[in-house]
Amino acid sequence: MTFSKTYRWRLKKRLPSRCIVDEDGCWLWQGSLHTRGQPVMRHHDKYYYVSRVVAMLYLGMEIDSELCVLHKCDVQRCINPDHLYLGTQQDNMRDRWHGHVGNV
Ligand SMILES: [Zn+2]
Repeated sequence: MTFSKTYRWRLKKRLPSRCIVDEDGCWLWQGSLHTRGQPVMRHHDKYYYVSRVVAMLYLGMEIDSELCVLHKCDVQRCINPDHLYLGTQQDNMRDRWHGHVGNV
């Protein structure tokens, strides 16, 4: 099941209201979290990482892309599109190596 245009539009309006913005400008997700702490949301009986949904909405990534969504800030709960960037699995590993938490 894909994300329809209407649904994407609604999400864009709705997502920020589910976050608290902290002093660093991080959008801290107040919804469900995965067991490892990443924000998740349900869509058509599937759970999605919110960071990937945000990357789809704002960064033009496809939701099932091979790319990883990584944080510029170190805040795993943050879904501010300005704090996210796309990288490869390799970038993700390097991030982990440096103690950052990447989203898979
Ligand atoms: Zn952030």
